[in-house]
Amino acid sequence: MTIAQQMPHADRHLPDIEATARGLYIDGNWRQSKSGRKIDVTDPSTGALLAAVADATVEDAQASIEAASRAAPGWRSTPPRKRSEILRRCFELMIERSEMLATLISLENGKALRDARGEVAYAAEFFRWNAEEAVRITGEFGTAPSGANRIIVDYQPIGICLLITPWNFPAAMATRKIAPALAAGCTVILKPASETPLTAYALASIYEEAGVPPGVVNVLTTSTPAAFSATILADPRVRKLSFTGSTGVGRLLLAEAAKHVVSCSMELGGNAPFIVFDDADLEAALDGAMVAKMRNAGEACTAANRLYVQSGIYESFAEGLAKRMSALNVGPGVDALTECGPMITTKAVEKIDRLVVDAKAKGARVTCGGEPSAGPGYFYPPTVLVDMPDGVEMAHEEIFGPVAPLYRFETEDEVIGRANDTEYGLAAYVFTRDIARGLRVSSALESGMIALNRGLVSDPAAPFGGVKQSGLGREGGQHHGIAEFMEAKYIAASF
Ligand code: NAP
Repeated sequence: MTIAQQMPHADRHLPDIEATARGLYIDGNWRQSKSGRKIDVTDPSTGALLAAVADATVEDAQASIEAASRAAPGWRSTPPRKRSEILRRCFELMIERSEMLATLISLENGKALRDARGEVAYAAEFFRWNAEEAVRITGEFGTAPSGANRIIVDYQPIGICLLITPWNFPAAMATRKIAPALAAGCTVILKPASETPLTAYALASIYEEAGVPPGVVNVLTTSTPAAFSATILADPRVRKLSFTGSTGVGRLLLAEAAKHVVSCSMELGGNAPFIVFDDADLEAALDGAMVAKMRNAGEACTAANRLYVQSGIYESFAEGLAKRMSALNVGPGVDALTECGPMITTKAVEKIDRLVVDAKAKGARVTCGGEPSAGPGYFYPPTVLVDMPDGVEMAHEEIFGPVAPLYRFETEDEVIGRANDTEYGLAAYVFTRDIARGLRVSSALESGMIALNRGLVSDPAAPFGGVKQSGLGREGGQHHGIAEFMEAKYIAASF
């Protein structure tokens, strides 16, 4: 089936996939890889081939370092106002092209168009926010406690940055890094996930049109990410690795970066608890659960992974959630009616199935969904599991799919202990009408981000990131995100 047949009402927003997949983007040029090899990109809604993109070699990686290095002096000395205006133009162009970008995201990632539209708006916002930050980078000036000298602190761009991003937010995970890096005056090499490279290439065209000079942003896809990133990290001109992806790959990259003492920012996996107390507003908690669980069909690092519901509200919450989950429209991402698209790969469906089978074997009861769907496409239906025992595999692993497991709890202390019983610490959700309890529990939860009486936590204006094995550093927020791409230079001055 052609893309136009899949989207009879949306043809004016069709992305030009052939043009988007025209090569690696290095030094402002589109080139083929030195190997001539290609990586297939498929549509998870159908399994059909969408495009084949260039497969970068280590020679291509070296060419991108040369390009980023040549562009670095010019970009770091570009006046902040000029950098800011270019970033602002990136924001405007993304908004102008948002339907095209959302369609492209839906096609290669499978997420429902409404989620893809939300992602484009969120992703574009990083350019607007960092356009504002670019002109607000200030230093410090003070007197040493001894009185012997002045202390001057200047913030300088850290240098060339390697950015590695996952497939679940192909636009936002890239712009959340590129926008602050460029605002700080750095040049970058982006390696998007091989499942969803088309969005990254489409955005590269937008940067070019917005006036980002050649070499400031380079985008390369590769089927050999370990060799590719090792080559880049070994170059002494590269000073920063900013990675978003799984904790397992994050550990490997931290070890690689350690060999050359490269600064690392890590946005890793999550295992978010979603806690509903007896006194919560039931409708608000259900609305929140649908967002926290079902945005991107559960394929989000912030996705509610363990829903802890207090005994007094457990039955009504479970019933309400099953009703809402079973009413969702499941279908191809690009279909305007779809609310839950496919998973990214067959492997992802198999993992979800393994976790659900384990939970059922240990006593969980299915009240909706619970079995993988037949193809074509990689679908798993919205699923609710109740009476969850604690010893299940999915209590310790990211489900990364539309499965909501409900655990029962009795007391505040008990639920805090159970919620914190994980190596992860990214997002957590708390629902209660008692604001004192809400703040007390928020403070006790070992998570970088808490959503209190809401199902959505991400905001470019707030520091996004995790504690424990969910990561190092923050993205977005006032100064937090941009600070990851700068070094403090201290000058002890006597005069
Ligand atoms: P992943 O397997 O860790 O891959 C992420 C990126 O790393 C991809 O570009 C991948 O390239 C690359 N990669 C894989 N192995 C590598 C290696 N040995 N050396 C260098 N790069 C390597 O993660 P994913 O499956 O794409 O994404 C899902 C994960 O990301 C989940 O754990 C989710 O929680 C996490 N995530 C975290 C955040 C956050 O902000 N904390 C946000 C979104 C997602 P290939 O595609 O070519 O394999």
